[in-house]
Amino acid sequence: HPNRHINVTLLPFGRRQRLLLARDISHLTRLEQIRRDFVANVSHELRTPLTVIHGYLELIDPEDVPELAPVLNEMRAQSKRMGQIVEDLLTLSRLETQEHVQDERVPMTPLLATLRKEAEALSQGRHQVTLEATADVDLLGSPKDLHSALSNLVSNAVRYTPTGGRIVIRWRRTADGAVYSVTDTGYGIPASHLARLTERFYRVSSSRSRESGGTGLGLSIVKHVLNLHQARLDIQSEPGQGSTFSCWFNNQRLLVPGDPE
Ligand code: ADP
Repeated sequence: HPNRHINVTLLPFGRRQRLLLARDISHLTRLEQIRRDFVANVSHELRTPLTVIHGYLELIDPEDVPELAPVLNEMRAQSKRMGQIVEDLLTLSRLETQEHVQDERVPMTPLLATLRKEAEALSQGRHQVTLEATADVDLLGSPKDLHSALSNLVSNAVRYTPTGGRIVIRWRRTADGAVYSVTDTGYGIPASHLARLTERFYRVSSSRSRESGGTGLGLSIVKHVLNLHQARLDIQSEPGQGSTFSCWFNNQRLLVPGDPE
């Protein structure tokens, strides 16, 4: 039936038999749809009031009301943060409903240079940032989404690495594709948290994450963008030593510079 979602599993049963298990999961799919629509609607409805509040706050000059300056600055910072959460939720809703991406060439040389600059701007000289690009290949996919995913890993590396640490952005070939990775010498992540890291709002330490200015949605966005590009996220981390976040792209997603698409 077109409106029913059936989950089918084939299990070994005895020595020569198989057990076919069919479960009707239509109600779960419907609930999931309701949840998605709800989040998308709420985010959308919050956008306009937030823009208005933020706009008016920008109009007030703290110098005109010096006694309120700290309050004003905090209000501005918080409304900006809320705006970022709403934008990230809207991005996630779009990525969740999207089935595939419009393929375009994503030239890697300029993108990697931009990512490095972003890291340096965010770090403000507090870290040593290096780029090691040995793969001379471009990506095929959505330039905007790939940029936001790859850039998320860079900003996490900066935000979760104390001053004096090192950050290395790499782009290299593998046997059947290419890997983009970001290595940091930061706080690291205990193994017990790794499996849940890409869930929305999941945080290892909520106080540290809040201070660092993230929305808690970054890695969910990364995971969805990579899924849409048939790529895989791999996380290696050692608490107190640092982490490496790697995105594995297969050959179908690679283009040699200069070749037609
Ligand atoms: P946030 O906005 O909180 O950074 P993310 O989805 O980007 O949200 O990351 C989820 C959590 O994963 C973070 O709160 C942090 O605890 C952990 N994390 C992400 N990247 C790193 C990293 N490079 N080093 C250590 N912890 C990290």
